[in-house]
Amino acid sequence: MLNKLISNILPYMPQALVWQFSKEYIAGETIEDAVRAAKDLNNEGIKTTIDVLGEFIKNLGEAEANKREYLEVIEVTEKAGVQGNYSLKPTFFGLLIDKEAAYRHIREVVAKAASHGNFVRIDMEDSPCTDLEIELFRRLKAEFPGNVGLVLQAYLKRTHQDIKNLKDLHSAEYPLNLRLCKGIYVEPAAISYKKYDEVNQHFIEDIELMMQEGMYPAIATHDKPVVDGALKLIEKYKVPKDLYEFQMLYGVTPALRKSLVDQGHPMRVYVPFGKQWFGYCTRRVKENPKMASVIMKAIFVK
Ligand code: FAD
Repeated sequence: MLNKLISNILPYMPQALVWQFSKEYIAGETIEDAVRAAKDLNNEGIKTTIDVLGEFIKNLGEAEANKREYLEVIEVTEKAGVQGNYSLKPTFFGLLIDKEAAYRHIREVVAKAASHGNFVRIDMEDSPCTDLEIELFRRLKAEFPGNVGLVLQAYLKRTHQDIKNLKDLHSAEYPLNLRLCKGIYVEPAAISYKKYDEVNQHFIEDIELMMQEGMYPAIATHDKPVVDGALKLIEKYKVPKDLYEFQMLYGVTPALRKSLVDQGHPMRVYVPFGKQWFGYCTRRVKENPKMASVIMKAIFVK
């Protein structure tokens, strides 16, 4: 009830107040903010993946501008010597308006990263995007086998099969690099697991499948039981350090993050930045009202 109330009034709250909770989770508005945050993390032995905030654009003119912004981000970040790669959301490039135009824009971004020997992760959005984003990834992976990865969501019932279906893109030279996360959108029960234990169980099964196949799992979670399950699998399959990593969101569970880094596990932090932080945060809470409790804590429990 309270969660729903907060998610409804949040878009009308003053931006300065919303920034009070957002600033812990967002690097800032400018590329310089992102580079600074990334370098601080690098100094703690953590790699980054930089993301420009924004999604579900309304016209293709925005896609052109967003592509230019990503190209600039890559230019600046590489020049600054940040140890990290890039993440992007295909709807920020117009995936749901014109998938060919989106493909061309994203291809340019991946080509730019590849020219620096770097890597772009295709984030996974809500279920109307799943097939489109897998198809997009397939095309990019065929052209840039070592420079692109995808995200899959453990809460979707289809994910275990999706991993199997992607096996043809996997090789020892260019392992299939998949970030597995629980999934952040609210999806229909017909296509998604809803219970906490069920999602966690499938998360672990998906990671195990990737390890059995010698793929590269990027284990994106802040949930201790899932982290512990993944650690057991790393031990069981003797996965070398260059064939997996943990990933966490900027500002979330820093103590758990540090304990993994201290144990020598590869860690990457997702660093979102950009002018669209307000829309991003309010949309996120509307999509997933559980986030409202996190906001309440951030605003009132200091
Ligand atoms: P949960 O059980 O949800 O959380 C465990 C604990 O972590 C919570 O109790 C809380 O203490 C803490 N926590 C979790 N999230 C937050 C938060 N945002 N703020 C504060 N505390 C928090 N989802 C997608 O659908 N598509 C993507 O492309 C995608 N990319 C991601 C990239 C990374 C690097 C990460 C870490 C997550 C990504 N997600 C993505 C989000 C993911 O799907 C989950 O919604 C999110 O990570 C919460 O799940 P959890 O595994 O941490 O477990």
